[in-house]
Amino acid sequence: MREILDAISTGASGPDLAALPLPETFRAATVRKDEVELFAGLPSEDKDPRKSVHVSYVPLPELAPDEAVVAVMASAINFNTVWTSIFEPLPTFLFLERLGRESVWGKRHDLPYHIIGSDACGVVLRTGSAVRNWKPGDRVTIHCNYVDDQDPSAHDDSMLAVNQRIWGFESNFGGLADLTVVKANQLMPKPAHLTWEEAACNALTNSTSYRMLASPNGCLVQQGQIVLVWGASGGLGGYACQYVLNGGGIPVGVVSSPEKAEMLRDLGVEAVIDRKTEGYRFWRDERTQDPAEWRRFGKRIRELAGGDPDIVFEHPGRQTMGASVFVTRRGGTVITCAATSGYMIEYDNRYLWMSLKTIKGSHFANYREAWEANRLICQGRIQPILSSVYRLEETGEAAFQVHHNLHEGKIGVLCLAPEEGLGVTDTEMRERLGDRLTVFRRHEA
Ligand code: NDP
Repeated sequence: MREILDAISTGASGPDLAALPLPETFRAATVRKDEVELFAGLPSEDKDPRKSVHVSYVPLPELAPDEAVVAVMASAINFNTVWTSIFEPLPTFLFLERLGRESVWGKRHDLPYHIIGSDACGVVLRTGSAVRNWKPGDRVTIHCNYVDDQDPSAHDDSMLAVNQRIWGFESNFGGLADLTVVKANQLMPKPAHLTWEEAACNALTNSTSYRMLASPNGCLVQQGQIVLVWGASGGLGGYACQYVLNGGGIPVGVVSSPEKAEMLRDLGVEAVIDRKTEGYRFWRDERTQDPAEWRRFGKRIRELAGGDPDIVFEHPGRQTMGASVFVTRRGGTVITCAATSGYMIEYDNRYLWMSLKTIKGSHFANYREAWEANRLICQGRIQPILSSVYRLEETGEAAFQVHHNLHEGKIGVLCLAPEEGLGVTDTEMRERLGDRLTVFRRHEA
């Protein structure tokens, strides 16, 4: 691996990289099948990724014709890394077993360990015989839509494919490792002005927010529209706010501390609600919601933005959905991609049907959407929201931070990159973007 890293660091040519032998084993962050009962009986908050995520050496799988081996310079933590590491809502080995039954190549994924991670940035080392658009030496970021392109259902919107999966969550060989094996149609160009870790943290949440707010498959934000963004300084929310601003909309960002509120203002979001300081209690107890609190929240949005939200960007789920449906304006849309606080949702249906509102589901992004979202990063029109960086050995700790909402934006993870700050090839664009590039990093520091 040292030889490969030296070759990448010295800018070796593609053919030179391709000539280097691949190691038989590589470092990877994994969870283990024989540990899925590790946290049995514990409440979610006590399930500790620091105990279930292991960094060890694993064998390199055989390369399929439509795949590439990528040297991972950096990766990032996503909430799905948390779900995998606490074995909720179910152990991800069930996904790997299902993939294993699908094909000979799928069988490689059904292993007693699961290499986790759904984001990565690095350098292509090998390509399979059917790969046309990429070659060794290409600097890439990787998106996580893992689709069988020989299935007819994948050829309208690939997110509608019957066997659509999320790489590193529903497939093995994820990004939190020194090497990864991915389908060639997961590759996208690395933004040249970003460091490895800045480039690695975007694809999953940036593409998801793009589909939700900037694609015809989601809610296309129009000029002047008010968009309520939950978790506005989190992984999804940090990009969502940027898409609303870029589209001429008015974001109303919800956060949980004055520091996060300040960070959002730095990002350009003027209307910010600190839900903790303002003390909203949408639930009186575990079973009863409080419409008076929904009303108070709606009044606050109106005060700040001059109207009710045309769009609500939802993902906290059970804790907030009642309020989200209530505050959405007549004819507006709640677009949801998750349910962090619980997926058995309750809302007052009268406020939905009588006011002709829509609840719309969304999930990651197809290749085209991920590509467009990446293109906007490459052009410096969307900024990475990296706040802190850990080493691969510290993956469990990094996932713990996200699990307990102790982070802001995205947490990056250095894999082969020996230190932060490497990988930039377009310094001019970096200088041009200046402080805008590092809003989340500065606040974390
Ligand atoms: P983060 O943890 O980075 O951010 C989520 C934010 O939501 C937090 O920062 C927090 O902000 C806010 N939040 C958490 N709990 C609550 C609550 N009970 N009430 C109100 N706000 C809350 O996670 P991500 O943004 O990366 O992901 C969020 C969810 O979306 C996860 O469940 C993830 O699995 C899912 N997801 C789904 C995708 C898909 O394609 N379907 C893609 C990406 C993520 P604050 O405390 O400041 O209010």
